[in-house]
Amino acid sequence: MVRGKVYLVGAGPGDPELMTIKAKRLLLEADVVLFDRLLDPKMLDGVKAELIDVGKNAGNHKLSQDGINKLLIQKAKEGNVVVRLKGGDPYLFGRGGEEALALLDQGIPVEVVPGVTSAIAAPELAGIPVTHRGVTASLTIVTGHEEPGKDSPLDWNAIARLDGTVVVLMGVSRLERNVAALIGGGRPSETPAAIVEKGGWPEQRMISGTLADIADRARKAKIESPAILVVGNVVRLADKLARKKIAILRPASQQAESAKLAEEYGFSPVPAPAISLAEKPLPSDILERIKAAECVAFTSANGVRMALKNEAVLAGLAEKVIVAIGPKTKKALDGCGLSSQVPEEYSSAGLEKMLKGKCGHILFLRSAQGSQYLSEGLRAAGLIVDDIPLYEVVPSGDIRLDDLIRRARSVDIFAFTSSSTARNLLARSSEMGLEAETREALESGTVAAIGKPTAEELARLGVRVSVMPERFTFEAMLQALNETMTDMSK
Ligand code: SAH
Repeated sequence: MVRGKVYLVGAGPGDPELMTIKAKRLLLEADVVLFDRLLDPKMLDGVKAELIDVGKNAGNHKLSQDGINKLLIQKAKEGNVVVRLKGGDPYLFGRGGEEALALLDQGIPVEVVPGVTSAIAAPELAGIPVTHRGVTASLTIVTGHEEPGKDSPLDWNAIARLDGTVVVLMGVSRLERNVAALIGGGRPSETPAAIVEKGGWPEQRMISGTLADIADRARKAKIESPAILVVGNVVRLADKLARKKIAILRPASQQAESAKLAEEYGFSPVPAPAISLAEKPLPSDILERIKAAECVAFTSANGVRMALKNEAVLAGLAEKVIVAIGPKTKKALDGCGLSSQVPEEYSSAGLEKMLKGKCGHILFLRSAQGSQYLSEGLRAAGLIVDDIPLYEVVPSGDIRLDDLIRRARSVDIFAFTSSSTARNLLARSSEMGLEAETREALESGTVAAIGKPTAEELARLGVRVSVMPERFTFEAMLQALNETMTDMSK
């Protein structure tokens, strides 16, 4: 006997990792999946079922609720295992109950699978606990988009009088009216309020203020659906609990690794490659120049990767003293079977100290824009310094950088990993006509420079640097930032 079944499954607020294990299993087992437009396509990775988008994409036609019910009934009656995937939790303003009733009415078995609701998760992911001991002991969740002509209209006066947290869903288009209703019902206009847009999505944003000004702020920030309004004193906790957003300006190839590290230190990474590396051909006399040098220095893992692809170069380096400026560079050399020394301090003074009496002729294999900072000091100390440019640092042209520039004010920390990241962020901002806004965001946020040349370049560009690690590595910079942010929130 063919017998269909429908699972009403909550997908959570948007991040595919916030789906339940049961939701994922059912998706993999289903014959047919009906889903809404706002779901991340990654949720459907590996799903073999027939996929039906029942939501509305701008311009396309949306299936009515009745149409969805009919389709669910039809697919189940054909004997399919059907997953009806719904945002958040199926029974919270999701019309899941209506779908279940329609199916049961036809004798079709239905099972509901709870999901993480955005009503709690969106505030939570923005650093707002919906209840907090000593602050608030109740939570009221309401729709901000009441259907006109309903028999039981919301009693905003009663909601306003409850002294707890109020969470309003589906309220973007009626924000002004809803806020006015709460104030009209007796909530003080200075009550903290926040809007969390796209909670749990990579582009999550939060705007905070008070009941008096939140609607205005939301309009200025062009808040769009899906977004949630949270009202109550718990909103203040976000100052401490929200993960700080850190803009990572490194080249695209280093983003994944850097984002992972940033998360390990408790930050929320915003990938925004400001530069990319354009490899240059090796000069034809490179082997002679290696031979002439007593020691060879690399300043980045990228440089190591590019130079050592060439086997003759690799062989030529075998009997040289090799210097790695920094642990990542050393690791890359180790990976190629070359042992290297790392100076205690990543500066010309540190290099000089290390090389004194051991090396009179040094060759740098590094970026074309390699800061003169290392070589000048060595020349002054009497060394012969040669330099082979391996790659050129060029503007990235990455849309993620443009996105960052457009919403620079929502970022807490800017992490500069080279002087070129600083130059290109400002150059691109100016091309987009947003330089003043970027400078303002840098001024109100925290600016970190990985090392001295970067900090000096930022100072030259008129940007105030507040964090620089003692050791010039990305991880040390995160550590220093972590300490600074902890002090700031005390
Ligand atoms: N059943 C869903 C809610 C459906 S109503 C749930 O439990 O989450 C749709 C409303 O939910 C939107 O208008 C918005 O107010 C809210 N919403 C859904 N996902 C959201 C998200 N990721 N961030 C902020 N609000 C969200």
